[in-house]
Amino acid sequence: MHELSIASSLVDTIRDRTGERTVASVHLRIGQLSGVLADALRFSFEIAAANTALEGAELILEQPAGRIRCRTYGLDSGLVDQFLLCACGSADVQVTAGRELDLVAVQLAAVEAAG
Ligand SMILES: [Zn+2]
Repeated sequence: MHELSIASSLVDTIRDRTGERTVASVHLRIGQLSGVLADALRFSFEIAAANTALEGAELILEQPAGRIRCRTYGLDSGLVDQFLLCACGSADVQVTAGRELDLVAVQLAAVEAAG
């Protein structure tokens, strides 16, 4: 599964940076044209994070909609689906948003003072 390899490399990358510190949340931006399915990614993240410092971390997903610019008339428009087709009928479009696959932020759990 595509999402499982994304989740595994995400978990590995975060562990490389934050070591064994407990992670409270991971904030990702996955565009609606990125080909990544949010539900599959959540499920995969739970598997990849199990028995690591990321276990139980909240996965915050932002899913920006796709936007295209039509090369025929130069118009920008939003997409409601995966199909890169302008309202004028032209498929000669440039994707201007929606392909993001970005790590926005990682929040570490607060360290509680002992005793
Ligand atoms: Zn057009």
